[in-house]
Amino acid sequence: MKSIRRKLSIMFFVCSLAAILLITAFVNLTITKKFDDYMVDTQNKRYERIVSYFQEIYKREGKWSKDSGIEMMHEAYMGSYCLTLLDSSEKTIWGMDANDIKNNLHFNTMKVKDTGVYTSKRFPIEVDNKKVGYVDIGQYSSVLLSEEDVNFKSSINKSIIASGLITMIITIVISLYFSKQFSRPIKEVSKMSVSLSKGNFDTKSVTKSDIKELENLRTSVNVLAGKLKQQDMLRKRLVSDISHEIRTPLNILQNNLEAMIDGIFPVTDDRLKDLNDEVIRFGKLLNNLELLKQFESESIKANFETVDINQILKSICEDFYMEAKNQGVDIDYSVQKNQQYYITGDKDKLRQVFINIISNSIKFSKESGNICINMYPKDQKIAIQIKDNGIGIKEEDLPFIFERLYRGDKSRNEIHGNGIGLTIVKNILDLHLADIEVESKEEKGTKFTIYFDRVIV
Ligand code: ADP
Repeated sequence: MKSIRRKLSIMFFVCSLAAILLITAFVNLTITKKFDDYMVDTQNKRYERIVSYFQEIYKREGKWSKDSGIEMMHEAYMGSYCLTLLDSSEKTIWGMDANDIKNNLHFNTMKVKDTGVYTSKRFPIEVDNKKVGYVDIGQYSSVLLSEEDVNFKSSINKSIIASGLITMIITIVISLYFSKQFSRPIKEVSKMSVSLSKGNFDTKSVTKSDIKELENLRTSVNVLAGKLKQQDMLRKRLVSDISHEIRTPLNILQNNLEAMIDGIFPVTDDRLKDLNDEVIRFGKLLNNLELLKQFESESIKANFETVDINQILKSICEDFYMEAKNQGVDIDYSVQKNQQYYITGDKDKLRQVFINIISNSIKFSKESGNICINMYPKDQKIAIQIKDNGIGIKEEDLPFIFERLYRGDKSRNEIHGNGIGLTIVKNILDLHLADIEVESKEEKGTKFTIYFDRVIV
């Protein structure tokens, strides 16, 4: 298997190479064609010049002689073409030998494009609209080039090839750079996912990318790693917390029962009641765990009906009134009058939501605390606020309080709890499509606000 960097580099390189070759070939063909056109044009002008030269000679001398225009022979010889002068009846007056040019080609300043077949062209010499003779111009090539022409052409070709090569080198460097830009974050994220799959959740990708999708991928894998780490921590805490939660009531029960059996403790009603309370607490924990399991396996069943949430809250507040009073905590329930507070929900589960939140408020209240429960309609919703002035929640704990078995600051261990209450609250509210918000300040208090969809009856 090839690495992404190698694959991308090869892809970039092949694409650029194809583009460079195409452009080079195209430029080369165009320049060659234009150059050849230019040379043919120059050659035609030379032909015209030679013909008009002989016209001038004839005009000056009035007839042809063996020496007429013979001085052109030298230029023709140097230019690698062959001249033959003929009179009006096409009889040769003088002429050059084609073989002389062939033998002396390499001494001449003119180069032939292709030393092939000798061809000659005949041009009439006209004076006063009368044909007075002909001149044959012959050469071993279709187009004659001067040394500068050849040099010019080859230097252009060299420049095209050189620029092609330089572009290719630049392309290789750029493709290596860009493929690295792509591959580096991908490589890092892939390394990270391998270590996540091995259970090492402490990894983090730090190489930022300016490519949107790659940056999204990087940040979401980082978030994933954070969540997995959190879940792993919760899982580890789950085992220790549950074993602690189960061991404590069991130890109390065992020690007390043994002491009673051994006759160390007398069997009194009070003692039996205390032991029964422990058994109830124990049973509650198991019920909560069972409920949580049902939510997590999505096998929970809800009995939805139209319920008066005001009635539910009022009865819960009454139930809690005495317990709160014993702890020196006041519960104050107020509701905006002349309004209906109907929602669609499961009565028992809704009771569970408020019991969990209010019992937390009592639990985390300081002595002579105050709990304000307030209900009011808000647009199409019903808002319920449960506010205490207790010990509050640390800012860093706030995002996690609804997580399974999450308990605030370890130092609160002396306050009884198991970190399941709010998880159940969140699950039940999700089932009711209701929202919950929490605001809290350490040592100042906590406020939960719940929003239900309102039903008008
Ligand atoms: P617990 O059994 O520990 O109360 P919960 O799921 O009900 O479990 O609550 C999770 C954590 O949220 C608690 O351990 C506590 O740190 C914090 N918490 C919840 N309600 C309050 C509150 N009213 N005041 C202060 N802290 C709270």
